[in-house]
Amino acid sequence: MRNNVEEEYRKLVEEIRNCKKCPLHKFRKNPVPGEGPLDTDIMVVGEAPGRNEDLQGRPFVGAAGQLLNKLLGLAGLERAQVYITNVVKCRPPGNRDPRDEEIRACLPYLIRQTQLIKPKLIIALGRHAARTLLELAGLKWQSMSKQHGHVYDASIEGVKLRIAVTYHPAAALYKPPIREQLKKDFGETIRKEVERIKQLKAKKEHVEPKLTRQTSILEFLGRSSTS
Ligand code: SF4
Repeated sequence: MRNNVEEEYRKLVEEIRNCKKCPLHKFRKNPVPGEGPLDTDIMVVGEAPGRNEDLQGRPFVGAAGQLLNKLLGLAGLERAQVYITNVVKCRPPGNRDPRDEEIRACLPYLIRQTQLIKPKLIIALGRHAARTLLELAGLKWQSMSKQHGHVYDASIEGVKLRIAVTYHPAAALYKPPIREQLKKDFGETIRKEVERIKQLKAKKEHVEPKLTRQTSILEFLGRSSTS
């Protein structure tokens, strides 16, 4: 099963590397498919690669990436524990916003990433990521000022998860009030979500060994009664 996921993921990355489905392929040095563990419960989705990301082919490696790492820390997470990607995988020229048609062309990749990883929580960073993910789940997008710090129950192509909405770290670099909001969203709302997921996981891990033990006792009894 795990091998299938890894194989499918490898194919997906290869497709993204060769993709020419929208004009952004003409401007990229490197596409940025995403990075992180495939068996994580948490995905982080930004808007589009910037200059450093385009040069390195990795998401969130510039100043916004450093801030993201700190914000993840406030939510009780390390970067290595989450899968990070963007709504569009190639850099828009001059770091302009991605256009609707580019987002539409690239969306199947994000959907396939979600289906492979099956996260319990997606942290949507910025307006484009939040709007795209909420609308994909049939939910209403209004504005970042109204919806940041909120978490929504959602289903994306059969994957049940929750979407946490917050600002993009790049927006906070030169705007201290947005930085404060981001810190609050990560340190409070998103932290609670992460704790909930950790508790569920701990419960499951606590129950499963018990079941395994019970099964082996029953097997033992079964064997004893027939011997
Ligand atoms: S942004 Fe997405 S759809 Fe457009 S060329 Fe890059 S990978 Fe393909």
